[in-house]
Amino acid sequence: MDKNCVFCRVISGEFPSEKVYEDDIILAIKDISPVAPHHILILPKKHSDDFMHTSTAEIADIFAKVPLIAEKLGIKDKGFRLVINTGDDGGQTVDHMHVHLLGGRAMNWPPG
Ligand code: 5GP
Ligand code: ZN
Repeated sequence: MDKNCVFCRVISGEFPSEKVYEDDIILAIKDISPVAPHHILILPKKHSDDFMHTSTAEIADIFAKVPLIAEKLGIKDKGFRLVINTGDDGGQTVDHMHVHLLGGRAMNWPPG
């Protein structure tokens, strides 16, 4: 828990969120500013600053939850996209490692 971290404060319940799924490893919430019909943030409960500071085992544990969340959203058969913005050039704006799950089409990249 990093008290200066927005997502740690969401995870602790101090800041409100729209919860999609939760267990002991992750909290999945709706993005406050969605760019697709389904835009979910998968937040590991243990703080790390970004992808480069997250262990391979932790990454595996986070990704293992994706099918559960996709099933819960009802998009597991239609498909979705996973994105991890990392660092300044990667467009990361919140320094708590997270995975974007985007679904429902309405995405402009990649084309088609
Ligand atoms: P990044 O650009 O770091 O990959 O993504 C950060 C994401 O977090 C953005 O899509 C932004 O809309 C979302 N976000 C920032 N603050 C909050 C918040 O307090 N609650 C929720 N639900 N999403 C947030
Ligand atoms: Zn944090």
